[in-house]
Formats: sequence, structure tokens, C-alpha cells
Amino acid sequence: MVSPSYLLSGATLIDGTGAASRAGMSVLIEGRMIAAVGPDGTLDVPADAIRHDLAGRTLMPGLIDGHVHLLAYAGEGQKDVHLWNVLTFLEEQTLHAAANARRALLAGVTTVRDMAGGRPEIAVKHAVDDGVIDGARVLVCGFVGMTAGHGDLFCPANIERRLWQTADGPDECRKLIRQYARDGVDWIKLCTSGGVLSIGDEAEWRNYTMAETLAIVDEAHALGKRVAAHAHTRAGILQALAAGVDSLEHGSSLDDELIAMMLERGTWLCPTLAITEYILANGAARGLPAASLEKARALRHGQLAGLRKAYAAGVPIFAGTDSCNTFAFGSHAWELQLLHQHLGLTPSEAIVAATSAAATAIGLGGKTGTIAPGRWADLLVVDGDPLVDLNILRETERLIGVFRDGRLLVDRGLAQAGVGVV
Ligand SMILES: [Zn+2]
Repeated sequence: MVSPSYLLSGATLIDGTGAASRAGMSVLIEGRMIAAVGPDGTLDVPADAIRHDLAGRTLMPGLIDGHVHLLAYAGEGQKDVHLWNVLTFLEEQTLHAAANARRALLAGVTTVRDMAGGRPEIAVKHAVDDGVIDGARVLVCGFVGMTAGHGDLFCPANIERRLWQTADGPDECRKLIRQYARDGVDWIKLCTSGGVLSIGDEAEWRNYTMAETLAIVDEAHALGKRVAAHAHTRAGILQALAAGVDSLEHGSSLDDELIAMMLERGTWLCPTLAITEYILANGAARGLPAASLEKARALRHGQLAGLRKAYAAGVPIFAGTDSCNTFAFGSHAWELQLLHQHLGLTPSEAIVAATSAAATAIGLGGKTGTIAPGRWADLLVVDGDPLVDLNILRETERLIGVFRDGRLLVDRGLAQAGVGVV
């Protein structure tokens, strides 16, 4: 599959690094890569390049959603959060996962990191990479969780079929990680506290002992896999940070001591504001259990203050929505608005959190997340200026073009936009 070359010119360029936007810029795409970037009229352009004049449009890196769960119902309407996965053939769930990767792409997301993955998510990752299906690129975290842990309790206790594999004791954890490495995951994810949507636990429940946590991080790192930790509580966050995880998910109880640890260790923070906001606003109407709503409300206390403090102190933050069975795929740019509203990021900083920072956080720094020569051509053409109004990124009809790996996979009138189309 040979992609044509593209010259995108006349655009206002947001390059993803946080630098000021520049008007009158051109980007040349050749094959999978960005070949050149410069002021209009200065690039050496192959004669057969497809040209689009993007006057009045913004060109920015494709968004990265650093925290999603692809194995979720993707059809119209909603299904029971806890029952859909256990009542549905895995083959069928995998088709929905593929549809969710496509939904993300349609919403301007060119890369997602799946946080509870296994073979179905790996299958979607490969199918996207092979060009068999159009979707966001997928990085997969193999999920390691204890019996009665946050992941395990997504499955009602009276149903034997577990949604995710469990591993107890350092040796079982190591074995599961080795299996994941064999299967081809990119990351390992564990939980060091209970969660909101799990049934019958409390956020305060310890998930894994320190010995198990150390074994998980050691084994994953030994096999070249970074480690993400779900943690809401102070004890859970401390356990994850002390064991040396690479990214902290949620981080709902941050204080000065924990923030100092994150800074010292260079731990990335993914605050997942969208899922919390969604649950607090819509959880009751969505039919979530009262206990989950209560847990979400309790965690909210001090949550935003801690996250704000962390960002102000310089903890590196990246965007992730936790799109899943509860909060459907397609609203990924909402996280940028929430980072702006709740944590005080400027629109430019929020864009960085969802582009170059997210790329670095998930291990794709220098490959995607910025618009520069030699990067993968993951680009978003936006009708309007998201630096003036981040909400534009949530209006899919204004995302008039999405390129992933140099291929124009979403075209909502890009061809009509350009006067110089050949
Ligand atoms: Zn999650």
C-alpha cells in the first residue's frame, strides 16, 4: 500500500511542542513520514504530490489518548457496565474494540494506550498497523491484577468467567508478565488500590503487597516493558511510586510528599479527569451502582487540589480520558478542556499534554506527537483555532482531516477546502 505524497500549505501550524503557532506554514508528507516543514513556498515538493491549501485552517499533531479501554460496547445506546463483557463472546468484543479504535480516530485521536489489554487488544493493534482496519494506533498494557482486586471485581462475584486474568504472589505475577511479553504487549499495568467501578471493594483496599508490586515492576522492566499503576489512595500511590512505576493513573490523593517523589523519579501523571467528571455528572442516569457513585464523590474530595498542586510543581502530565464501557469513545478532546478548567493548563499546555508530552509518556517520543521532519505523519486539520477555543476539538465536523502514518483516513471535505488541489 503506497501512500501518495501530500503538500499541506497555508496552514496555521501548532507543532505540539508548546511553541507559538505560526501562520503560512507548509508540511510535506512522504510515505509514512513528515518529510519537511517550513514557510509556504520554501519546500522542495515532488511533482506528483497531492496539494491542499489549508488557508484559515489549523494543522496540529493527531491527539493521543493515553488511557482507554477498547474492549467496550461500541454500538448505539448503552449496555450494562459490568455485564456486557462477561455476557459477550470475546470474538464479538474484539470487533467492538476495533470499532472503538476507529471512533477514536474519527474524533482526531491517532494513538491510544489501552490500559487493560490482552490478546484482543493486540489483535486490534496489529490489524491497525497492517492497514486492515482504520483506527487509532494502539499501544497495549497487559493487565496484572490480584484476586479481588480492582480489575477482578468488574466481574460480578457470582459469575465464574473472569474478565481479566488474575495473578497472586510474586511468581504468578512474573509468569503472567512473561506471557504478556510473549504475546507482544507494549506496557504492563497493575492496580495498587481499589477503584470506583469495581463491585464490592473500597478504593482503600490494598491491591498487591509491596513484594508483589516490586516483582511486577522488576519483571516488566527486565523485559523492556514500562509499567503503569492505577492508584487512587495515598497508600496505593506511595506503593506504586516506591516500586518505580513509570506512569501513575488517576492519582486522586496527591500531597507534597508524593509530589516530591514523582518529581524525583520523573513519574508521569495521567489524571483521567473525563471519566470522573462523567461519572459525577451522569453516573446515576447511566445506571451505575450507588456504591460507585459514592466512591467517586468521596475521591473527589482533595482530588483536584492535589492534581493542581502536582502540575504547578512540575510533575509531567499527559492526557487520558479512561474512555470505556461507562464513558463511550469519541469525546477524547474533552480531557483537554478539563485540564484547562480544573488544573489550570493553558490551551497550548493542554494540547502539549495530548500530543508531545503524551508521546513521550507512552514511549513514542521522537516518533509522534510533534510536527517535525522525521516524525510519523499523524496530523489533524482543524477548521478554526483550538488555542482560542479548545471546544473546537470536540466538534468532529470541524476536524476536517485526520492523517495517521501519512494516510488520509478521515476526510470531511479536506479536498474541497483547498483551492490548489491537483
Ligand atoms: Zn482505566
